Order: sequence, then structure tokens, then C-alpha cells
Amino acid sequence: MRYGETGFNLEIDLSRGNIEKVETDPRDTELYLGGLGTSAKLMWDRVPPEIEAFSPDNLLIFSAGLLCGTPAIGCNRTIVTTISPQTGLLAFSMMGGFWAPELKHAGYDKVILRGKSPELVYLWIKDGQVEIRDAAHLQGKGSIETAELIRQELKEPQAQVAAIGMAGENRVFFASIEQGRSSASRGGIGAVMGDKKLKAIAVRGTGDVTVARPLEYMKLCNEVLDYISYRNEHPIQGVMPILQGLGSPQEMVVHDEKWHTENFMWGNSRERRKDFWTPETAKKWTDTMEHMRTRLISCHNCPMKCGATISVPGLPTYMMKCFTKLTYTMAAMADLDFGLRIAQQATEYGVDGFSAPQVMAFALELHKEGILTDADFPGMPEDNEGRFYWLLDRIVRREGIGDVLADGTYWAARRIGKGADAFAHNNIKKHEQLPLKLSMLNPIYFLMYATGEKINITQIEGQFPQAPFPDRSEREEFVKDWFQVPEEKFKQYFLDWEPRGENSMPFYPTVQACCDIVDWQERMHYIDDALGMCAGLSSFPLKPPYHLHNYPGFISAGAGFDMDEAKLSQAARRYRTLVRAINIRRGMRRKDEKPPPNHWKKRFPELEKELLDTYYRFKGWNDDGIPTRESLHELGLAYVSEDFIRRGILSEDETLRGESEQETAEATAAAE
Ligand code: SF4
Repeated sequence: MRYGETGFNLEIDLSRGNIEKVETDPRDTELYLGGLGTSAKLMWDRVPPEIEAFSPDNLLIFSAGLLCGTPAIGCNRTIVTTISPQTGLLAFSMMGGFWAPELKHAGYDKVILRGKSPELVYLWIKDGQVEIRDAAHLQGKGSIETAELIRQELKEPQAQVAAIGMAGENRVFFASIEQGRSSASRGGIGAVMGDKKLKAIAVRGTGDVTVARPLEYMKLCNEVLDYISYRNEHPIQGVMPILQGLGSPQEMVVHDEKWHTENFMWGNSRERRKDFWTPETAKKWTDTMEHMRTRLISCHNCPMKCGATISVPGLPTYMMKCFTKLTYTMAAMADLDFGLRIAQQATEYGVDGFSAPQVMAFALELHKEGILTDADFPGMPEDNEGRFYWLLDRIVRREGIGDVLADGTYWAARRIGKGADAFAHNNIKKHEQLPLKLSMLNPIYFLMYATGEKINITQIEGQFPQAPFPDRSEREEFVKDWFQVPEEKFKQYFLDWEPRGENSMPFYPTVQACCDIVDWQERMHYIDDALGMCAGLSSFPLKPPYHLHNYPGFISAGAGFDMDEAKLSQAARRYRTLVRAINIRRGMRRKDEKPPPNHWKKRFPELEKELLDTYYRFKGWNDDGIPTRESLHELGLAYVSEDFIRRGILSEDETLRGESEQETAEATAAAE
């Protein structure tokens, strides 16, 4: 008997139209925890580094987390894993909503797709019946429109549908997968779905998901619910409004956008507008939001209502949450009204709300600088907002300059040449980041930006406050009920962190403390991504209801295998190292691990070197960021070290082989 998980994956070969239900090995769940953990193992085993994103042998894995579909509050994440066309590395993007619990109820933990369909198709999973169906009539349709058409066609109003829009069909490198109440957007995973000619996956499940010890499990769930109520009534003081509560940042409820609009950058992540948030703007934006936001909505089994339905007069309703509220507005230097209107179109097209606006603003910046000319933009309207609509349309259709821009700023700059790469200034590992430029180096964020492999800071940060509180008394108040910390020393790190003086950034927190803090934050995200837990109730906010101390109980009572804090941390470390190993095998090295040069004005090269050197050692990686043989063996990943040795990435005697040495070895081998 399997608990928490179903114990079965669906394996679909789209080239042959073959569908198999495959039983999985429960030992893998214990080792890698499920969700992203077991998906990473599949990607390691079955997608060698020679396989590119658009190869039929690239896998596209839709996975429910280990505890999705159980009564655990907010445990509803679908984790989509593949090789990214933009970065060439592992992409793993999460979406909330209802899809993953529905898959569990249908009797599967994962849908593993390989091959490419000759024609556009969609997948229909209804409990034990699985069909690949023709989707020719859905070609060019929007993602939300597609979901609705499929539900009507199947006469299944409760089917959950994950679909791509035109951007995915045309393999735009920042295409998303949308599913009504959420989207998986980062890394271009929608482009891989389009390349496989898979328009959508619809799922309806009516079976049970069983937990091992129901009474114990329900007690834990009720404790979480009680704590959520408590926290909703006791917002955290001394931090900006979006960090005071739980859930994903409550952008649909919070109207005060002073912090984002005056601290984040506008346009192509270039311009700060220091006195933007006037009382008049606040009123206008509040009116716009109140007028267009029709309802606050939640994901499966969650009381937090982080999302909202947005109904712009004259346009179909769509769902929004989080920072996308502002990304289009700020990229276009426009009003909130424009941002909410164009986001409807962008959601139907299926594009990432961080990358797409920056790419469009980048194109207009190149035009202004004369690097691109009028000839590159035939028929583009004169007005600013019209230009953004025009560009979005060209990009998702890959028409003219849109075809170049559809690869994202990094690759577009290389194709355009003429110095365009200086304008692709906000990338890490070839992927657009939050449009944020700051003054003083923050050593904790330096490490997270540099080494995070989800390549999205909001999916790495959390738990530890983003900045010191001004007074020690406030800090003492904060740590009083901070029981989520793994160890007491974290409280001390925070208590001693001052805004100015000896114990201030960039030299405080100390290098060692930064390693501890980043490791804790990252560990929590990796645990969430394996269990299917929403980061908004665990790894992202301050003082969340899920933490290292109650998670083992959930796993033991839910999945039925013994778990404690040490074993959980070790499992998270194991599969986090496996994620790194996949990327190392694909060529990622220390040279790739750096924030954009202009992310902070004040940089400290020696300190940054020390941070990276120390963190690599702390994680058991060598100076080039490669997990060492010893650390791999300690984590039970001897097969990774053997593969690294076979490929010349590590040597038998554990001498650290840098890239140039490896290249020389490869060149010598080729010459022979
Ligand atoms: S906290 Fe918000 S984003 Fe997370 S599951 Fe609940 S409603 Fe969804």
C-alpha cells in the first residue's frame, strides 16, 4: 500500500502515441521525496547532456508533489520539469491551482512525456482512461480559451486543464503553461510543450488519496489552519505590507505600491522613479484595481485567496496574482489600467510575466538607441501602449523582429549584434530577472542570485528578513516567537544585524552566517518543491505555518515512512545536489554564477569571491561549483560521481578539474 502518493506514473510517448501506466519504486520517494526530487532523478537517468531542449528525447514531466491531494493546507503545486531552451539547463517551474490534486485523484503522481507528436494534440486523463486527442481545432487559441473549449468538448466542467497559448505553439523561449488559477512560467517550459505539439493536458480524477495515519495527519492540518488564522490576525510589524502576512505576496489585496513602484526599475529595468507614488496615483490605482478585480480566489484547499479574477471591460475574465500586476505597467512606463489590460492578452498567449515585458522594453530601447531601426518595426503604432501590444503580437507569432525577440534578451542581443548585448543587462544564466537594481551589496542575496538554480529570486528567498530592522528592541520583539528557525543561532544573526556600522552590510551577516542563512532558505524551497507545498505557506514568507520542525510529522503520518529533521534535510540536500549535477553535466560552472553586474552599485569583488568560495565548500562543491566525489558519496549519489569521472568532470583522485583543463582533455581526445 502506498500512502500520500499513488505509486504510478503515466509514461506517454507522443511520437508513437504509446501510453503506459508504470509503477514506481517507493525507495526513490524516500531518497528524493517525490515531486521535483523524483523528477530530477528521472531527468538525470534519462536525459543526458547531449539532449537539447527541442530534442524528442527531452522529457517534459508534470509532477504532483508527494502530499498533493491530501488534506495538507495549500499543498497543490504542479512541478513541471524539462530542459530549458533559453538556458540549456534544467527548468523547474511550479504552478498552484487545482491540477496536481486532480492528477492524484485520477491515480497518478506524474505524467512523463517524451517524443513529439506529428500533429497538434491534447491529452485527456480521466481516472484509468487516458487518450491522446486531436487538437487541430485548438491551434492558435488562447490558453484560457483552450481550457474552456476542452471542458465543453469533453462535457467535463470540472476537468482541470493545463494549456499553452500561441507563444508555446511557436516555441517562444519564455512561453508559459497556464492553468486557469496559476501558471508555470519560468525557463520556457511552454516552448517545450509546444515543440512536442501538445496543446493541453486535461485531467479529471475521482479516486481517493490515502494517508498512512489519518487522525495524526488531520491534527497536524488543523494546527496549520489555526496558525494561519493567528497570523492573519497578527501581521508582522516592521516590514513592507506585502511581507507582513502569509501566502504569495498579496498583490491583489494590497493597494500600497509605493515600495515596488519607487524601488523596482521601470522600462527595460533601467529607470527608477523616486517620487512616483503620489496620493493622486494611489487613488487612481486603487480605483482601477477595485473596479477590475471581481473576486479574490484561492488554489486548492487553501484559505489565503492570493489570486483574483480580473475583468477588464470588453475583455474576457482572467486570473492574476503576484507581481505580474505591475510588470507590464512598469515596463511600458504606463498606468495600472494598461498593465491589467495587456496582461489578459499575455495570459491567453501564454508568456512569462517577468521576461515578456522586459523583452519588449528592451526592443524599444534598442530602437531608441538606433541599434534597431524603423525598418525592423514595420507598421508599429506611434503610441507607447500600442507599441507594446504590437510587439507582443509579433513575438508570440515569431514574425519579423518578433522572431528574434522571442528567444529572450540574451539570445536576441547576440543575434542583433551592434552592441545590443549591453542592453541585455538583467540576466542570470541567460534568463531575465526581477527588474531590481540596488545600491549596497547584500551578501545573502548575492549568494542566492549567484547559486540559485531555479533562476528566480522569489523562489529562493524567504524565512530570513530581507533587511535589518532599525532598532534592537524591534529585533528582540521579532525573534520572540520565531520558532521556525532550524537553530537558535539564526536568531542571533538577526539580532546582531544593524542597518549601519560594523555589523551592517556588506560585511554582516558574516560569510559563515550568510552560508547558513542561504542554505536554510534554499532547503525549505526544495522541500516544498518535492512535497508540492505552496511556497507562500512555507519557504517564502516570514514565520510560516510549515517549517522544518513540523514537516517530518506530515511526511511520516502522510506518506507512511519514518522521517525526522535530519533525514529530511539530508533528502533535500541529496536531490538539490542532483539538480546541480544535471546542470554541471550540461556545462554550468562558477563563471555562470553571478548576478547582473549592475544589480548593486556598490560591489566588493574580494568579499564576493570569499562568499562564493566559502559557500561552495559549505555545500560540498569544489572551487568550480562541482559537487565533490566525497560529498556525492556521502549523499548516496555515487552514480553521479562515477558519471562525472567518466566524462572527465571530476578525476579519480578527486583533483579538481576546471573547465579549461576539461576542454584541453576533450580537445586531446578529439585529436587522438
Ligand atoms: S497561499 Fe495563495 S498561492 Fe499559495 S496555495 Fe494558498 S491561495 Fe494558492
